[in-house]
Amino acid sequence: MELLGVIGNPIAHSLSPVMHNTALAAAGKKAVYLPFLVKHEELAQAIYGAQALGFTGLNVTIPFKEQVLPYLTELTPEAEVIKSVNTIAFIADRIVGHTTDGIGFIAAAKHELNFDFIRKTVLVIGAGGAARAIVAQLLAHQCRVYITNRTDHRARALLTLGDNAREQMTVVPMQLESLREIMDQVEVVINTTSVGMAKPAAPTSSNSQDQTQVPIPAELLLPQHLVIDIIYNPKQTLFLEMASQRGCRIQNGVGMLVWQAVKAWEFWWGITPPLDKMYQAVKASLS
Ligand code: NAP
Repeated sequence: MELLGVIGNPIAHSLSPVMHNTALAAAGKKAVYLPFLVKHEELAQAIYGAQALGFTGLNVTIPFKEQVLPYLTELTPEAEVIKSVNTIAFIADRIVGHTTDGIGFIAAAKHELNFDFIRKTVLVIGAGGAARAIVAQLLAHQCRVYITNRTDHRARALLTLGDNAREQMTVVPMQLESLREIMDQVEVVINTTSVGMAKPAAPTSSNSQDQTQVPIPAELLLPQHLVIDIIYNPKQTLFLEMASQRGCRIQNGVGMLVWQAVKAWEFWWGITPPLDKMYQAVKASLS
């Protein structure tokens, strides 16, 4: 029996166990995938413990995606660029860190919309961990990237992502007039902020969200825009609802969630999981 799991804090909300276990059962794989609540001060023990117990791999979620780096023996090129890891493989005495968030995002658009990001002009809203992973992939796909964020300096920090980031990226102030100037050129708008998310991370945190909020005014959206919101709960955010009303093509965050897991299977075993089972498991959990 192979062992896998996801480490995080908190972890109870994670959809990864149901998604992976459903796919493992459907694929007939003798493996189990468990959620592990890890204390901050016990992160090293958790990783080395999993290695000692012969785990095949782990997923890593908030708040450990950067904090795991010192305990890994190597990083894949994708993880090296963003210095963030959401998937670990234990291979003999090596502990290899990879990130599938960005490649999962790109793959989801290809799978669900047959959309190819190569050389597109994209507006990314937000500059947190998810934005970092997505922007790195957009740059690798030679996109022209506009980025806007509530906190300007966090957007500017993404200009160090890779050699060509400064040529390919422009930080745009999160103001109506500044954004309006670029919207004609933009083909894809991606919300990577938590604005519109169903549940607050903590009632008092700055991430507390209100589902009646949108990350940028919907009046900026044009019918030619593909609008992607990486939030998956609710499945349709107010932002997506408004985008749809304005004639935009839309995509929610379920695909990214599923495809980062698909890419983890490819990393662990070199195989593709039963996709429809993964989608079904996530959708059933969310409804
Ligand atoms: P994060 O690192 O904490 O970043 C949060 C981002 O949201 C920052 O840009 C932050 O701006 C912005 N933000 C938060 N509250 C805001 C507000 N009230 N007004 C304006 N901006 C606000 O979080 P993350 O890990 O990137 O995750 C972001 C979202 O993506 C979450 O909803 C998460 O569930 C979702 N996500 C989905 C998937 C998927 O598989 N579909 C994967 C990863 C994440 P500041 O810099 O100004 O604070």
